[in-house]
Amino acid sequence: MGDASLTSRHLGLDLGGTNIKWVVVEREADEWRVLDRDQVATPTADGPDAVVQRLATVGAEAIRRSKRVISVGIGIPGLYDPVAGTTRFLTNFPGAWAGKPVAGPVGTALRLPAFLINDARAFGLAELRLGAGRGASSMVGLVLGTGVGGVIAVDGRVIQAHDGTAGEIGHQTLEPDGPSCGCGNRGCLEAFTRADRIAAACGTATAEEGVARARAGDVRASEGLALVGRYLGIGIANMVTVIAPDRVVIGGGVAAGADLLMRPIRDELRRRVRTTSLDEVEVVTAALGTWAGAIGAAIHGAEEAERRAAKAAVAPIAAG
Ligand SMILES: [Zn+2]
Repeated sequence: MGDASLTSRHLGLDLGGTNIKWVVVEREADEWRVLDRDQVATPTADGPDAVVQRLATVGAEAIRRSKRVISVGIGIPGLYDPVAGTTRFLTNFPGAWAGKPVAGPVGTALRLPAFLINDARAFGLAELRLGAGRGASSMVGLVLGTGVGGVIAVDGRVIQAHDGTAGEIGHQTLEPDGPSCGCGNRGCLEAFTRADRIAAACGTATAEEGVARARAGDVRASEGLALVGRYLGIGIANMVTVIAPDRVVIGGGVAAGADLLMRPIRDELRRRVRTTSLDEVEVVTAALGTWAGAIGAAIHGAEEAERRAAKAAVAPIAAG
């Protein structure tokens, strides 16, 4: 520890509708640790230009505090173009975000290579490298909140695919004619398990209240959570059948009630998974809390910068 020549520092920015969280992580071989972190309000209502500007100023402040930062990753709460570094669609953000350059202007302002990653994939990457997914070969992750984020890692790598959308577990169809989903489909896992639908299933104003009531023995809330757990279990069972992960990580705000959801989830897994042994599948709650997205963004920036550098190093040989 502490030998500057063996370590590198990386900034992660997690763009949320309320706050921009940032962390600086230090890497030493396969070990990652958080050096510094903070958060500032997101000027969401002021529009995309103000938000991108804030990302750059927050990043500059973080780098001033930590020094020696060599890459930046930015967690995006929605869809983006990983090659162009632009956003495509952000949930709950007003203004023209389609085609908005983010990685370019932030990277230029900070004079660092900058890369975007979906916030749920960032969560998964952080849990995989230094959280509840550590040591897993393959991992499936869910982030339960206003929406339901998803992430899939196979053989130690988070799957992004050509457009960064791989791992959208929340938008797999569970019921052909089920309730409407924010994505435009019907009967998605998210349509049954996002926070407002959990509240509706429990007969409460919020999902948190549903969890509290169920803990206090309220029958309606308990049955509501059991049903939510059942849908989660079916969605996870589908993923276990397809991916055969050795770890399933459940995170997000609603994961505080995860212990109440675990039994119905495990029941569904036992009922539906027929091809792989469940003895090898650990279902656990996330370890890194609300900072996972920023940590994962930092790791993504580090790994992506390293991949680009490796590619650039072999390119002349390939060309010659
Ligand atoms: Zn959907």
